[in-house]
Amino acid sequence: TALLTVRGLERRFDTTLALQATDLDVAENDFITILGPSGCGKSTLLRIVAGLDQPTAGRAELEGHRITGPGAERGMVFQSYTLFPWLTVLDNVCFGLRERGLPRSEQLAIAHDFLAKVGLKGFENHYPKQLSGGMQQRTALARALANRPRMLLMDEPFGALDHQTRELMQELLLGIWEAERTTVLFVTHDIDEAVFMGSRVVVMSARPGRIVLDERVPLPHPRH
Ligand code: ADP
Ligand code: ADP
Repeated sequence: TALLTVRGLERRFDTTLALQATDLDVAENDFITILGPSGCGKSTLLRIVAGLDQPTAGRAELEGHRITGPGAERGMVFQSYTLFPWLTVLDNVCFGLRERGLPRSEQLAIAHDFLAKVGLKGFENHYPKQLSGGMQQRTALARALANRPRMLLMDEPFGALDHQTRELMQELLLGIWEAERTTVLFVTHDIDEAVFMGSRVVVMSARPGRIVLDERVPLPHPRH
């Protein structure tokens, strides 16, 4: 059975049909890359799955439960990092764990574990503005993973990074997916990125926004 089920999803903004007739089944451990040009409805689809937006028709369900708002079982990573600037790297990663009421010692153990996994050992006490973009995004990834989400939702997370950092981050994420068996829904307009990382590539087209292709891709993907 699917972890995420999307049926007949539609999102209309006044005269714009941002998304229509969208069906998607996401199985546990899928790494789905959603590929398409700017304006084809990728963010709209991801935002509805995240519970940050509501469809005008159809439904999205996580393990049979209708998605009506955000929840800790769906970890988000955005292009703009969205770290808390007044918190250290360590406390950014602890944030959700503290919200859930975990004892400080457990928060720290989990945060240190995930910061090591994203290659940020030694940067625990830095503040976001002291870090490069790639390192800020590593922090955001560790923060999302630390909550052990059922699904990781990523909207162009590497879009603001230079080419070399982007490739490093793609390899890091793919390694984490293989090691942690996380289910990933990853939005991008970069075909190389979509094919390199996805175990399944879903292609969307604009006017109106909808899925036009949905293909499994054999792994592993050689870079060159
Ligand atoms: P993508 O992520 O593929 O670039 P979006 O999902 O952001 O596409 O947008 C799909 C379409 O819906 C675009 O035409 C966009 O301008 C429109 N759209 C998105 N959000 C809104 C909004 N809040 N109000 C009006 N139109 C919107
Ligand atoms: P992306 O390319 O990642 O979808 P956008 O720049 O298209 O980012 O959208 C950023 C924000 O602006 C989103 O919250 C989206 O819903 C909103 N938005 C996008 N297009 C429109 C629009 N035509 N009118 C109003 N809001 C929009």
